[in-house]
Amino acid sequence: MTRIAFIGLGNMGGPMAANLVRAGHSLTGFDLSHDTLKAAEATGVKPASILSEALANAEVAITMLPKGQHVISVWSDILRAPAKNMLIIDCSTVDVESARQAHAMARQAGCLSLDAPVSGGTGGAAAGTLTFMAGGSPESFAQAKPLLEAMGKRIVHCGEDGAGQAAKICNNMILGISMIGVCEAFALAEKLGLSHQALFDVASTSSGQCWSLTTYCPVPGPVPASPANNGYKPGFAAALMLKDLKLAQEAASASGAVTPLGAEAAQLFALFEKRGNGNRDFSAIIEMFREVI
Ligand code: NAD
Repeated sequence: MTRIAFIGLGNMGGPMAANLVRAGHSLTGFDLSHDTLKAAEATGVKPASILSEALANAEVAITMLPKGQHVISVWSDILRAPAKNMLIIDCSTVDVESARQAHAMARQAGCLSLDAPVSGGTGGAAAGTLTFMAGGSPESFAQAKPLLEAMGKRIVHCGEDGAGQAAKICNNMILGISMIGVCEAFALAEKLGLSHQALFDVASTSSGQCWSLTTYCPVPGPVPASPANNGYKPGFAAALMLKDLKLAQEAASASGAVTPLGAEAAQLFALFEKRGNGNRDFSAIIEMFREVI
């Protein structure tokens, strides 16, 4: 049993904390939203009215927050008077620079740290089947692994500080680009009078095969569980895809990487969001390719 402070109990953090409680750990939670904290209490998380109350006696702190600026601010507070040898794990998706800065702050305070963003969405968080991509020292990873296993089914140590965030944005840049490619192909097939099923049957067993087609097909029919069959209810919201594509672009310009298709994908998802689609599944972007943009 580990005493854990869990900070940020929203759509992802709430069910992740609940899985840690289910695994037998002692959780104290903090969130700026009173309603969110109340919902977490119902799953067995002890609510704290201020951050320092959540941290009292904690051996491990886990953060699941919107952006890098929130992580830096909360980690600064945690590290003001850290427990000795505390392990801090950030599961949020943030920019690589903020992740590295957070690690440096933790190291200076004598704490172990891990960046461990996830994929798998709210469904994976609830089911405990998330994939964790971790960055940090081997010692931090070894200590965090049993806790991550209570929330996920695949835990990958990607390398040193920030490597988890790097893996996350590279993967999601592939996803954003490949979904656009699959959507364009279906929109073209429609113009050519080719049925969705015929394109799927050929491409899913040919060189066009990819996850965006075979698991997450953006038209209804060929893959019954994909959001296209459910009015494009997310799933993975277009606003979150845009967030990750912007992080990839920031990282590309900071590192001098050449990512023209990543840049184009970010532009297209920005346009899609501007048209009021941020809360729809990202595969609904196919609708934009049926029009003249
Ligand atoms: P969310 O907005 O539902 O939850 C974030 C929570 O953090 C909110 O409850 C908010 O009140 C709280 N918060 C913000 N600042 C705080 C502070 N200073 N102190 C305490 N609490 C604070 O967001 P989410 O969907 O749970 O996403 C969390 C992170 O996970 C994001 O970085 C997101 O990109 C990433 N992510 C989300 C998904 C998804 O499908 N939702 C999938 C993968 C990764």
